[in-house]
Amino acid sequence: MEKKWVLCPVCGSKTRLRLLKETILRDFPLFCPKCKRESIISAQNFKIEIIHQPDAKTQC
Ligand SMILES: [Zn+2]
Repeated sequence: MEKKWVLCPVCGSKTRLRLLKETILRDFPLFCPKCKRESIISAQNFKIEIIHQPDAKTQC
């Protein structure tokens, strides 16, 4: 079965979330273990859409 790792939209590293082709996410809080930020994403058919991305300036 085809699976894809979801990449963090902030830092681009792999998150712990994987998608199947059939997976549908809607307003899903994606947490990145690397930069420790949460982005809200939607996904369907391996296409990921960033609904809300944390402001990169607030941390780091
Ligand atoms: Zn990240």
